[in-house]
Amino acid sequence: MESDSEQPVQTQTDKPGVYIHTFGCQMNEYDTQKLYKILENDYRPVSEADQAELVLINTCSVRDKAENKLYSMLGELRGLKRERPSMLIGVCGCVAQQEGEEILKYGRGVDLVFGTHNLSLAPSLVRLRKKGAPPQVAVDYREEWEDLPLGFADVDPSKNGQKQHVTAFVSISRGCNKSCAYCIVPTTRGPEVSRAVEEIEREVRIAVHRGSKEIMLLGQTVNSYGLDLSPRLSFVNLLERVANIPGVERIRFVSPHPQEVRQDFIDFVVSNKKICRHIHMPLQSGSDRVLKEMNRNYRRDKYLKIIESLKSRVPDMAITTDIIVGFPGETEEDFRMTLEVMDLVQFDNSYSYSFSPRPGTAAAAMPELLSQEEKIERLQILQRKQEQITAARLAAWVGKDVEVLVDNRNQNHEGCLQGRTSQNVMLNFDTPYQGLKIGDIVTARVVAPKRFTLMGELKSHSVV
Ligand code: SF4
Repeated sequence: MESDSEQPVQTQTDKPGVYIHTFGCQMNEYDTQKLYKILENDYRPVSEADQAELVLINTCSVRDKAENKLYSMLGELRGLKRERPSMLIGVCGCVAQQEGEEILKYGRGVDLVFGTHNLSLAPSLVRLRKKGAPPQVAVDYREEWEDLPLGFADVDPSKNGQKQHVTAFVSISRGCNKSCAYCIVPTTRGPEVSRAVEEIEREVRIAVHRGSKEIMLLGQTVNSYGLDLSPRLSFVNLLERVANIPGVERIRFVSPHPQEVRQDFIDFVVSNKKICRHIHMPLQSGSDRVLKEMNRNYRRDKYLKIIESLKSRVPDMAITTDIIVGFPGETEEDFRMTLEVMDLVQFDNSYSYSFSPRPGTAAAAMPELLSQEEKIERLQILQRKQEQITAARLAAWVGKDVEVLVDNRNQNHEGCLQGRTSQNVMLNFDTPYQGLKIGDIVTARVVAPKRFTLMGELKSHSVV
């Protein structure tokens, strides 16, 4: 019998491939990176499903579109599995958490289902299935922080087709204590649990050590961070501690909840230069009546006051938002009020959706008065308005100097790079610059707007 030391060493290229397809939000992107790390002893990341022996679909249940895409993707994967029966297919994320075993009924060929609290079980579920056990399901609520391999921010993105991680995503909390009528997240991700601040700091240090310049803090309602910790902390305390870590050049976060925005948060955001000049704060509706029905515990006045406080002190602060159109009972007047808030705020961009009921939410039981066509019509009106506002906002940058963190290659110009401004607008350089590389922070002069991006030329190249 061979001893352990005589086992052939498995190199990265000997390992079978794993491909993870991600639907949904940045929290899911983050879990995907974590999964690659959790599986790295047994699998190497690949960029296409047809190169993989293990395909995972990290699902989102916020909108039914993503859920429909899951089932159509499972159909395609079944075809692949017919050609290569050894391939394993797994479903994880919010739909897995919500549907559990039901997924095995609709999704023939699925080998694994595991929820948002069970990522660390993935290797053992895979092993069991490979040994001939029946399809594995793990969706119990578990507290996962302790199980996570620290340092997953160092997953080499070039190996799995992801963008180079000049920006590191760092999760600061899990779950949500709110109960917005349309949202399934509190059910799928459980109550809010803040991550220990020391663990967050450690992960940020590792990310910086690996070359990240920008830290994106993630949570469902980031600004309620720390209220469940002992001793209690605030989100501002956390921002201070992250900003003090050497090598952190920029900090972003998604998403603050308007109800939790307090003066100390506004003061810190406007005064600390490491906090990017961009706030993504969901509005959802401009009508107080609809906000009440949605169980969003703030009103349009509060939302507008927050924006006013931010913009009066930082005029170039970019504001983006999420808006739901056609919530049950939304009248013409309610919709008009949402358009009015868009006029008042001049959002740099907005992510808008027409309402679709998610089973298990309070809104699913509300009578819908609008037809699908009416909802789509409102959505189109809103999106056309946003396009006009975005175009004007982008045009206003022309001739100004902006700081850009170079984070990718310009897909349209060989040898050229692109980056993001502090306001989170992509800026493309259209000529190659000697010595300019991913991770540099440079000053650029904006020369022209494109549809959702800017074109710019390098002004100064002071590498941080
Ligand atoms: S704040 Fe509301 S919309 Fe956001 S995750 Fe929590 S319940 Fe969902």
